[in-house]
Amino acid sequence: MSVKIHFLNVGAGDCTIIHFPARTRGDKSLNERIMMVDINHNPTDRNYQNVINYYKENFRDDNGSIKPIFRFICTHPHQDHICGLDALKNDPDITIANFWDLAHDFEPENYDYYPTHEADWKAYKNLTGEKSTATVIRTSREDEPGKYWNNEEDRISILSPCKELRRYAHYKEDGTKREKTKIEIDEMSYALVIQINSRKILLGGEGRTTPFWENIYTNCKDLIKNCSILKASHHGQEAGFHEDAVKLINPEYIVFSNSEKEDEDYGAEGSYKKAVPKATILKTCEPGNIVFEVPFDKSEEIVFKQVIHGQ
Ligand SMILES: [Zn+2]
Repeated sequence: MSVKIHFLNVGAGDCTIIHFPARTRGDKSLNERIMMVDINHNPTDRNYQNVINYYKENFRDDNGSIKPIFRFICTHPHQDHICGLDALKNDPDITIANFWDLAHDFEPENYDYYPTHEADWKAYKNLTGEKSTATVIRTSREDEPGKYWNNEEDRISILSPCKELRRYAHYKEDGTKREKTKIEIDEMSYALVIQINSRKILLGGEGRTTPFWENIYTNCKDLIKNCSILKASHHGQEAGFHEDAVKLINPEYIVFSNSEKEDEDYGAEGSYKKAVPKATILKTCEPGNIVFEVPFDKSEEIVFKQVIHGQ
């Protein structure tokens, strides 16, 4: 019995899908759960995974129906993390039960960057608004401790957001509020630790070395210590690399989710290798989707396969 983690090859963006199996202990009525963290859907570019096709092919019941998304976590609503949300929301076969959002005032400056950006932003506003079809959850490190860590949930601990990072994102040093379009929403993105019995998976969010990682390193040392898999912050770029934190995390595997070009220009592979030489670095851009199986039984090894996807 294991938890499957899919890191999809979506180019300069993120899409991680975690599949928790049905419980065999504790509350056995709890069904399997699927958690999608961010989306960067590529319906036309054959170099990258079409997320919706992948979801429909891989998350299907025996009777052919598509499994629901139990929990969608939007780490932060920048374009490369919500791209395709409109298509996902409007797909008649896919449902989202819970939507994790941040408590923020950010708005995009324009929709120029990508053709579906405006539609995706509207879908995001819709999914997080009062009339949302999903249950909207806005939580933070200070929220009731262990709220998403109990047996009914999936042992999720929240590293970020927290009060301090939220304040940094919204206010300038002189105490005045940033304009909505200038809010540094990535500095309060969700970063999470998921515990699978004795193992930990760290999803590193999007923040930079300072203030984001400095804050997590200062406040969450026990939680981040010795993780099996680290999804590198900020797409594995230098901007999100924090040497002391990475040494403490001491991961067996590090995953970069980025395009080849961005990774070549900004990737921090050298810094990670120097900090944790034993870790295996895997990139979604070479050659494709990475699927881990993390067994509940600690005597069983973590296995992974990496596959070149087909659109
Ligand atoms: Zn990003």
